[in-house]
Amino acid sequence: MVDDEELLLAVLNTAPMHEGAVSEHLDAAQGAALARQHGGTGSDEELLQLRTVRDAIQDLVHGREGAVDSLQAVMDEVSMRPTVTAQGVRWDLDAPDDLVLAARVTHAWSEVNERMPGRLKACANEECNLYLLDRTRPGTAKWCSMATCGNRMKARAHAARARASAQS
Ligand SMILES: [Zn+2]
Repeated sequence: MVDDEELLLAVLNTAPMHEGAVSEHLDAAQGAALARQHGGTGSDEELLQLRTVRDAIQDLVHGREGAVDSLQAVMDEVSMRPTVTAQGVRWDLDAPDDLVLAARVTHAWSEVNERMPGRLKACANEECNLYLLDRTRPGTAKWCSMATCGNRMKARAHAARARASAQS
């Protein structure tokens, strides 16, 4: 099975928050480019399926309910095809063309949960809608990026402490 962690994160991070509103990057232009980069066709149906699994996995990462059904609907169309080689058995996803990428994303999410439980996280900045895969040994990563959200939140905490000590 190819490693689709990168695809999973790329798809999860296609709805960034910009000036308080979520902007859609899985659209005909940017979404199609992302899909083709990962072996997809960029068709409207493919993008629709990708948005569906993205929204469902985002809900699950946040612990919101009701997201499993749409993932099940995608995976209902999928089978795993074994190919025996001299090295062993390789399993490939077999799905309708427009569903392959959505199925790969769903499968990657599942693999990450199994291999790195709790490590797929939403950025701790509530004004950010990006996700991270925490590869730190203690599992303490909180920000999509130290350079943006990490520094911004630290500066905010620092300002709050400074205000509190000025008042006391
Ligand atoms: Zn962030």
